[in-house]
Amino acid sequence: MNAHDNPAAFLDTLKRPAAGGTPVTVAFGDGIGPEIMQASLKILVAAGARLAFEPIDIGERVYLSGNTAGIAPEAWDSLRRTKVFYKAPITTPQGGGFKSLNVTVRKTLGLYANVRPCTAYAPFIATKHPLMDVVIVRENEEDLYAGIEHRQTDEVVQCLKIISRPGCEKIARYAFEYARAHGRKKVTCFTKDNIMKLTDGLFHKVFDEIGVEYPELEKEHWIVDIGAAKLADNPGQFDLIVMPNLYGDILSDVAAEIAGSVGLAGSANIGEHCAMFEAIHGSAPRRAGQDLANPSGLLLGGVQMLVHVGQADVAERVHNAWLKTIEDGVHTYDIFTEGVSTKKVGTQAFAAEVIARLGQRPTTLRAADYAARPTMRLPTWTRKPGAKKEIVGIDVFVHAPGVDADALAATMKQGMFGPYDLTMITNRGVKVWPGGLPETFCTDHWRCRYMAEPGKPLHHAMIAELLGRLAKKGVDFIKTEHLCTFDGEPGYSLGQGQ
Ligand code: NAD
Repeated sequence: MNAHDNPAAFLDTLKRPAAGGTPVTVAFGDGIGPEIMQASLKILVAAGARLAFEPIDIGERVYLSGNTAGIAPEAWDSLRRTKVFYKAPITTPQGGGFKSLNVTVRKTLGLYANVRPCTAYAPFIATKHPLMDVVIVRENEEDLYAGIEHRQTDEVVQCLKIISRPGCEKIARYAFEYARAHGRKKVTCFTKDNIMKLTDGLFHKVFDEIGVEYPELEKEHWIVDIGAAKLADNPGQFDLIVMPNLYGDILSDVAAEIAGSVGLAGSANIGEHCAMFEAIHGSAPRRAGQDLANPSGLLLGGVQMLVHVGQADVAERVHNAWLKTIEDGVHTYDIFTEGVSTKKVGTQAFAAEVIARLGQRPTTLRAADYAARPTMRLPTWTRKPGAKKEIVGIDVFVHAPGVDADALAATMKQGMFGPYDLTMITNRGVKVWPGGLPETFCTDHWRCRYMAEPGKPLHHAMIAELLGRLAKKGVDFIKTEHLCTFDGEPGYSLGQGQ
């Protein structure tokens, strides 16, 4: 029975426990998805997984039926009921208008932590880093992936980088708890807080705050650029790395690839209510339908799922049989190396080889050991009382092609009427008034900063009045940002050169 044509009928062919088992929503996906899901489910069931599968349809077919989200409403009902999602990769159709299903599912279900163990399997799988064993914990909901983008002028578009304190607290707590539960000794944080002092600065600050509660763990922070270089060159110096969304997206692929292959890594997406398990790679359409693809990434995602639903015994059985298969040199094409590998197999034959080794353990590679792990303590996030907030200024962003900064300043001053002053104009963040340099290239997108007199905070009505006056002067303002203090601390950055 082919999982691609009829997932429900394929599931009926699996010899599962007659009744009971943890309900799990399953999507067979696109491209190589159905083949690797079929192989993975056969192994999980043969190992004795106590799971009750509910198939849903997501991905290319749903997109092309006119659903721009790629997931039908009934699929959400299943996900909200089972709270556990085992998902094969899907294809996002080319062209505009289709929203990323992965991002939608992660954000809608609040799956804030993406956990990607990246392990080398030397000498059985070729790698430049034979001792590599790093877990990447990626924040999964925020950052530039909030997807809030605007074209503001002829020349300028923007994407908002949203970082929240709840988001930082949840991911930092998760990283430390994961390290403690999985016997990791060191937790490293990557950010770019030398440049993004408020957004990445908050991520780093919360990492330090929560880290205090884990005195037994070594903690360190690297600026992401040099951290990434060190990870690529010498991954053995890292144990667990926690990062904001974009850096984590990029560097977890780098880490998986240098460990051996992107085809080997599984991924868990964990939320307060639900969780999703998958391979890190995509649907590899060119390999589809040929029984070639390596099911290992999805299978190891399934191992993480078994641990999550409290079936550590089965997770260990599956993982150890898989390690033994790799160690015996039974490899799919992507990891096959002449002289090291002993047998080249296709997707379903690989599954059969793993099943034949259930109950065995690796002899050279380190065996998996999930049974004795302490439970992670992940309290539900609770809101704290807010700070005292005062509006001490406003940035008015203006669309003005080909103007001189002095002339723009004169126009912007005409709108003023209260105890505040125009203090600065920047272009792409660089101060161009007062005292700009003629060498600075200016676009048609300007930020004009008004600051209140000390002790005389602005209020919303004054800002509305200012904008009304600017509109009457014909100023094409495109957005405003309030400059606030929180318990006296400035909540805004300075202009470069200010
Ligand atoms: P990809 O990961 O699908 O494939 C890249 C290459 O890696 C393949 O050509 C193949 O050579 C190799 N590869 C990947 N997985 C393999 C496996 N299991 N076994 C053997 N070789 C494997 O990346 P892509 O080609 O950039 O994307 C293809 C589609 O997948 C796109 O539509 C993309 O949007 C989608 N995608 C989906 C997910 C997901 O569902 N989680 C993630 C990434 C990409």
